[in-house]
Amino acid sequence: MPVFVNRTLNMKKIKAIGFDMDYTLVRYKTEAFEEFVHQLVREKLVELKNYPKEIMDLPFDFDLVIQGLVIDKKRGNLLQVSRYDKVKIAHHGSKSIPYKEQQQIYKNKVIDLNESNFQSLDTNFSVSNGVLYTQLVDMKDAGFDLPDFAQLADDIKFAIDVAHSDGSLKGHAIDNIDKFIIQDPDVAKLLERFKRFGKKLIIATNSEWWWTKKLMEYTIDPFLEEHKSWMDLFDITICLCCKPRFFTTNNMFLKIDPETGLMSNMEGKLTNGFYQGGWGGKLQEDLGLDGEEILYVGDHIFGDVLTLKKTFNWRTALVLDPIEYEIEAINKSKNIQEEIDKLMAKKQSLEHNLNHIELKKHEDPENFKKEDLNKIYAEIDRVDGQISEFLEDYRKFFNPYWGEMMRAGQEESRFADQVEKYACIYMTKVSDLLEYTPKTYFRPIKRILAHEI
Ligand code: IMP
Ligand code: MG
Repeated sequence: MPVFVNRTLNMKKIKAIGFDMDYTLVRYKTEAFEEFVHQLVREKLVELKNYPKEIMDLPFDFDLVIQGLVIDKKRGNLLQVSRYDKVKIAHHGSKSIPYKEQQQIYKNKVIDLNESNFQSLDTNFSVSNGVLYTQLVDMKDAGFDLPDFAQLADDIKFAIDVAHSDGSLKGHAIDNIDKFIIQDPDVAKLLERFKRFGKKLIIATNSEWWWTKKLMEYTIDPFLEEHKSWMDLFDITICLCCKPRFFTTNNMFLKIDPETGLMSNMEGKLTNGFYQGGWGGKLQEDLGLDGEEILYVGDHIFGDVLTLKKTFNWRTALVLDPIEYEIEAINKSKNIQEEIDKLMAKKQSLEHNLNHIELKKHEDPENFKKEDLNKIYAEIDRVDGQISEFLEDYRKFFNPYWGEMMRAGQEESRFADQVEKYACIYMTKVSDLLEYTPKTYFRPIKRILAHEI
């Protein structure tokens, strides 16, 4: 797949490349992983929060959510939001909310994610969260003894946090690593190429040292040609770095001994090695680089890209694996989109004629004929019917519950808007960069404004 460009990025000028690990350097088999989280989290809710045992019967339906949705915790709803922060599609649990009702609730509302009753589902790690929330809202509506909608969201988040940190999830994942983690030899190839071109390589991950080590050994080491291990390849590795705080707060670095995993205090400049915690500001200072000379590649629009873009002037790249599916769907539905465009143009021209006939009614009543008006109304109805049929066919190519991830109706989705604003480049997987040399000058297409068409 190609790399998509929002802003000019000259790779020649990039001296250091920082990588997030999970879902960036390391690709997951998302559906299998999230299905397992879904199971584990239900077990934890029964065990730790006394949820009814019937929740253990819930099946996992990967399609129930897409990246970028927002949970309205107060109402038990999931929302697809436009770039203007307006609700375009709303579901209560898994049930679609009729348009009229949706308008009553959200018409005068702008969705502000800083409000505590909204929670956004921005990464692949949040799929199980969204699926389970949807299902538990349905169960509560069906009369099961469950807490209110806001508490449901908080309990799920709590149980997910426990699963991610108590070893139950990651222990099982390591024991069954080939079920959950993808080995992509092209990543090692890409990293060695960057290294050959003199780029400093950095990992800045929210993962623990032990997990980082296991995943890097599994995904990188077997494919290295010029290095013995990933540890020789990366100049600096920073674990548990608490992004997005890593980009906002001056936390201390601890030094990790890679042999034992033991940590010690660190003073002075960062040198090549392994660390925990820390702050991006010190990393940049100790590298002796200008922000424009550092590229950071991550998969989390908020934690890896947006905050960093607002605090430092590093360059940013986003890995967004669900767009691979979306791009395929766009390609497959191209003919239908063309038909829809043609019909929309026809409808516009009919509406234009209609308006002029109506104008006659007021300004030239002698020449006004009601039959002309009725004929056009009928024709518009016919075109509307055709458009609806094509739209139904078009939607079948995308997520069955939500449609497109990057669009909310005709407009860009909130998620797409953030990608466009904060990611200099974006791609489906990090190894897509292998198609470009480390000296590539990425240039965006010229965007067309409404008045330029
Ligand atoms: P990164 O993508 O390399 O920065 O790291 C992601 C890390 O965050 C992984 O170790 C995940 O297990 C962890 N993680 C992802 N989502 C959650 C969550 O919702 N709660 C707690 N930990 C999470
Ligand atoms: Mg990540």
